[in-house]
Amino acid sequence: MANPVVAIVGRPNVGKSTLFNRIVGERISIVEDVAGVTRDRIYSSSEWLDHPFHLIDTGGIAYDDQDVFLQQIRYQAELAIDEADVIILVVDATAGITADDEEVAKMLFRSKKPVVLAVNKADNPTRMNELYEFYSLGFGEPIGISSAHGLGIGDLLDEVIKHFPETKEEEYDEDVIRVSFIGRPNVGKSSLVNAILGEQRVIVSDVAGTTRDAIDTQLTREGQDFVIIDTAGVRKRGKVYESTEKYSVLRALRAIERSDVCLVVINAEEGIIEQDKKIAGYSHEAGRAAIIVVNKWDVLAKDDKTFQTFTQSIRDHFQFMSYAPILFVSANTKQRIQQILPKVQEVAEQHAMRVSTSVLNDIIQEATTVTPPPTDKGRRLRINYATQVSVKPPTFVLFVNDVELMHFSYRRYLENKIREAFPFEGTPLRMIVRNKA
Ligand code: GDP
Ligand code: GDP
Repeated sequence: MANPVVAIVGRPNVGKSTLFNRIVGERISIVEDVAGVTRDRIYSSSEWLDHPFHLIDTGGIAYDDQDVFLQQIRYQAELAIDEADVIILVVDATAGITADDEEVAKMLFRSKKPVVLAVNKADNPTRMNELYEFYSLGFGEPIGISSAHGLGIGDLLDEVIKHFPETKEEEYDEDVIRVSFIGRPNVGKSSLVNAILGEQRVIVSDVAGTTRDAIDTQLTREGQDFVIIDTAGVRKRGKVYESTEKYSVLRALRAIERSDVCLVVINAEEGIIEQDKKIAGYSHEAGRAAIIVVNKWDVLAKDDKTFQTFTQSIRDHFQFMSYAPILFVSANTKQRIQQILPKVQEVAEQHAMRVSTSVLNDIIQEATTVTPPPTDKGRRLRINYATQVSVKPPTFVLFVNDVELMHFSYRRYLENKIREAFPFEGTPLRMIVRNKA
């Protein structure tokens, strides 16, 4: 089950991004840190009282050709209505109710989505006492908050989580491989899904259902069951935000969460852009297996170096995902389409692989003998014991004398050593370092 989505809506300057940052905190993501991928500060995951959720600041999704304020706000409200489970409407305590607030409130009211009204900039008790006028917006009790000073945020989130849908059980059996195609608009995600479903060896057993943001299709190929989670197949026809790249990230996030294997689709014709890396980065962080699929391979005029050059460029741009195999395909000519599902199956197996503790410890032992950990202020890291604690993705715990002595480069070195013994193709690995008890 994908986590609930909470959207922050409101006219400009009421404090939406301040609230967003307040809720998600300043957590820097691993990918941002390591891969030089700048993160959109408009989507993030957060948690309140053990309820995980996604948060969107709709104010960050703007439309270039819409410079009229009200138009922008309308589209943002529309996006929130379509995408969110709960909407936080932010208004400004110091400004009172404006015509724009009323306009947005009307749209939200008609949508019948749960709305929690946050009256921001209620920085002091006097302002907290002046919230009554906001009752007239029709969303019940206004919650006074100060995003700048961190006041009332807990009360707000208490109210938000009350409206979360009941969590459902996972829909598919453990041995079904869940696959999604993720990528920017127009890279060919839908075309690839269709090409796969049209394959001779593929038997479609069930178009299981259309959720708000995906069509799930169950299929079998040579005895293996798959579910393709197709987010591109559900288009919000006529919605302006559908074609925005930032919106495509949100779509990708929801699909990633429900997948075992993410097919990161790149358009060969356009090459790699920042947005591709961001989307791939989310898959990496979520610990999903990944394959990089370069589509529209038919379009390129190729010589004997094209393949190599393109591969190198992908490796340079996606350094954090060096484990991902690359496929060059064409949905149009069907070139290598029949290689996709077998590859998915391979990486899914690696993603779920367990290695024996004794072999793992042999590898670590040998690695530390060949290249001992560097010393830090006269002290040296010692790894006492390693064990794999979970799969999807494979996760290892290393018990050491002092976690402070484990440096990034040595961690990387150990990961490489593990991968020399067990390739774990297509899957990220997690390494948790603990002080030995
Ligand atoms: P957005 O356009 O709705 O995303 O609004 P911003 O988050 O960019 O905030 C607009 C302005 O309001 C900024 O100058 C913020 O510093 C200020 N602001 C945000 N929250 C508060 C608050 O709780 N109290 C006060 N006094 N100012 C705030
Ligand atoms: P999505 O937005 O990622 O789902 O992309 P679509 O599947 O809708 O494809 C976008 C456009 O790219 C359409 O006009 C497709 O016909 C075209 N397209 C998709 N795959 C290929 C391909 O392999 N080769 C070429 N030349 N065009 C393709």
